[in-house]
Amino acid sequence: MSAASSTKARPTYALALTQVRAVERVSPSFVRITFASADAGIDTLGDFGTPGDVFDARIKIIFPPEPYAIPPIDRDADDWWGSYLAAPEAQRGSMRTYSVRELRVTEAGTEVVVDFVLHLEPGLTGPASSWASTAEVGQPVFMVGPRRGIPAAEHGGAEYAPGAARSVLLAGDETAAPAIARILEDAPRDLRGQAFIEVPTASDLLDIDAPSGVEVNWLPRRGGEQHGSALIPAVLACLGDEPASVEVLDIDGEDLLWETPDYSGLGEEIAPVAERGDRYFWIAGESGVVTTLRRHLVKDLGVDRAQVAFMGYWRRGVAMRG
Ligand SMILES: Cc1cc2nc3c(=O)[nH]c(=O)nc-3n(C[C@H](O)[C@H](O)[C@H](O)COP(=O)(O)OP(=O)(O)OC[C@H]3O[C@@H](n4cnc5c(N)ncnc54)[C@H](O)[C@@H]3O)c2cc1C
Repeated sequence: MSAASSTKARPTYALALTQVRAVERVSPSFVRITFASADAGIDTLGDFGTPGDVFDARIKIIFPPEPYAIPPIDRDADDWWGSYLAAPEAQRGSMRTYSVRELRVTEAGTEVVVDFVLHLEPGLTGPASSWASTAEVGQPVFMVGPRRGIPAAEHGGAEYAPGAARSVLLAGDETAAPAIARILEDAPRDLRGQAFIEVPTASDLLDIDAPSGVEVNWLPRRGGEQHGSALIPAVLACLGDEPASVEVLDIDGEDLLWETPDYSGLGEEIAPVAERGDRYFWIAGESGVVTTLRRHLVKDLGVDRAQVAFMGYWRRGVAMRG
């Protein structure tokens, strides 16, 4: 082995071929899918994710063009993105981003549980949601996620970072519900604060084993109302701001909002974070809704941007890419 290859950094992400192990329709809008190794006797997920330290780590799932197809992606390549792109476009499938609802490591191997939102209305669905709606035990999918034992600061694929803050406000729509649930289950048991989770219906309230000092508020949308209609007023009311009406900002043509204490997707300069204050805010969901909350929090309520992660997880009317 040459000196160069012996000092080569281990890739921070692992690519694994998995297989659907279980499918459970947990509520009208969520299907919970458990993924495990696709190879008998080999834990293909054995290097994937760090139990107890998952929080809002994001993973990529590659949905094949046909349910049982296995895209020709080189599993052993260090560069998962390059090996995905190297597969012919018609065979490589579609990559989307998800959160880990649960990471189970037992003697039998590793299982990754993902809660998929079913958005199936004509014109409002996509390859991920439609795959999840018909998923069957035994179907293969490729998954990419942070390598076991590598801290978030190094793999860069997780944002929850409350620092020394002793209280949190977590807010999101149904796509952020799995990440909020994981954050609350991985957090220290003495965490305090509030979580606000907007969901499509009153039957979409899922179990979360949250610290007793965190109040979890589920906010079902009233029939036909748009995303943000329940979340925005609830978050603002909690902060003492109750505008007569709240319009979701029109963000047509803008990229997904992604702004954390350390990074601005808007290209704005971020001042070095010295002290994050006593309360940390984590807000994710439809990008127009998150942008609207950002405006109120930063511009109207004067919340310091060093205390907030604002993350557009998806955008109304736009298919995600990778
Ligand atoms: C860090 C991160 C973590 C995420 N975690 C999860 C998770 O755990 N569970 C989860 O379900 N999603 C999660 N998402 C959101 C998910 O990646 C998007 O919803 C994605 O667009 C779904 O892909 P698709 O192929 O179904 O639809 P796309 O092909 O991307 O989009 C097709 C159409 O569907 C619409 N659409 C997309 N999502 C929704 C929705 N939720 N409701 C209504 N319309 C929608 C789009 O606006 C578009 O018009 C996460 C996103 C990020 C960035």
